[in-house]
Amino acid sequence: MLRVAVVGSGPSGVYTAQALVGQNAVPDIRVDVLDRLPCPYGLVRYGVAPDHEKIKSLQGSLRAVLEDERIAFLGDVEVGARGLTPARLLELYHAVVYCVGASRDRRLGVPGEELRGSFSATEFVSWYSAHPDAVHDDFGLDRPGAVVVGAGNVAVDVTRLLVRRAQELEPTDIPQSALVALGASGVREVHMVARRGPAQAKFTTKELRELGALPDTRVLVDPAELALDPAYADPSGLPAVSRRNLEVVRGWAEAADAAGAVGATPSARTVRLRFFLRPVEILGEDGRVAAVRFEHTAPDGAGGVRGTGRYEEIPAGLVLRAVGYQGAPLPGLPFDPARGTVPHAAGRVLRDGTPSPGEYVAGWIKRGPTGVIGTNRPCAKETAASLLADAPVLARRTVAPDPVAALRALGHEPVLWTGWQAIEEAEAALGGTLGRGPVKIPDWAGLRGAARRGQPIG
Ligand code: NAP
Repeated sequence: MLRVAVVGSGPSGVYTAQALVGQNAVPDIRVDVLDRLPCPYGLVRYGVAPDHEKIKSLQGSLRAVLEDERIAFLGDVEVGARGLTPARLLELYHAVVYCVGASRDRRLGVPGEELRGSFSATEFVSWYSAHPDAVHDDFGLDRPGAVVVGAGNVAVDVTRLLVRRAQELEPTDIPQSALVALGASGVREVHMVARRGPAQAKFTTKELRELGALPDTRVLVDPAELALDPAYADPSGLPAVSRRNLEVVRGWAEAADAAGAVGATPSARTVRLRFFLRPVEILGEDGRVAAVRFEHTAPDGAGGVRGTGRYEEIPAGLVLRAVGYQGAPLPGLPFDPARGTVPHAAGRVLRDGTPSPGEYVAGWIKRGPTGVIGTNRPCAKETAASLLADAPVLARRTVAPDPVAALRALGHEPVLWTGWQAIEEAEAALGGTLGRGPVKIPDWAGLRGAARRGQPIG
């Protein structure tokens, strides 16, 4: 028998488990998918925005994998805690695949970042996704202006959530406290600010277009900022996604231009897409964010930008930096701090440049925080193929007879699939009491309590 631990039950972990059992390459294989959280699905549950129901529905296909009889989900097991080091894990399993994602958010490195009202987009996403580690629940939504720094899909997500109405979010699984707070929000204008031009923005066109389709929300783009983009005049050399993005923002710029001061209802919200502005300072008043100071930039001719020495301040009571994630080192596992990834060759973890027997990586910790969910599929397949090729050698390693018993001996109390199903039932029941569909439980005690009601202790 080949016993494999996959660490992380997000898309890369689940796709890895699927690829390992998929081809019957090893007839007698067992895969335990461990997660630090009591709940599976990683960023599909805790990153995909609640109003992206179609992407959320991917949970259905991830579920089918985790319900395979050769695969077991073991939630609430944190690698790195209670003596469960990578070395110890290798004593329990013939092979371990780390699919731990990129959990840290990047910082701007400008003065004022610590002011009240300045957050990472991750903190905001964790809050509206009911992540049990979310620490903030007061985002200062009482002020009319908000600034979102960055031009990736996370920036688009948080911008959209800031302008959505409660009635649009009510049918989703957003936690009740976030629904109430967003419903009472005084935010009327969100500035989504990119340091480069629209042709270099990282968002995808479908996500971008969605901003223009929001009820009672106008999207404003300044044609002068578009014109600065070197690709504006001739976009033919751009990747298809950038060409499409440029078309969309150009359409908005022309619409706003034609309408002049666009008329809006008092309840209307505005999204201003700004380009060629880089943040230099977050300005405060009484310890709280009051504005962001940006320097206007100009293309440097090599795809980047240079400062122009001209500055602009955008008033804001809330600043969200959505400038990307980065991988975090896991003690006991090699880490390349410059890339924020674990060094590897075709998914085989490299220690001092040499493949470490039995250790593998897949997903963002392997290739960095880029790509959409589907990008994880070929990435996971490559890693699984490496592991399966090594299987004859790996299977000769001596491992503990019962890894779950060994985890319990270390003080971990895994949430089994029945425990997760009990959490799902508890979330459906919570939603029922609120007259809503399933509503996520936002805290550790609630999740653990629900899980324990659904699985035998022992
Ligand atoms: P991202 O795509 O890497 O975008 C980061 C943005 O931050 C870029 O516009 C970048 O500008 C900007 N930035 C970085 N450092 C900055 C600084 N110091 N000052 C100002 N701007 C700065 O990261 P992300 O939005 O976090 O997304 C991560 C991954 O998740 C992406 O692959 C994304 O597609 C995926 N995702 C997908 C969805 C979806 O499909 N719906 C939703 C959410 C996330 P430069 O380009 O100039 O560096």
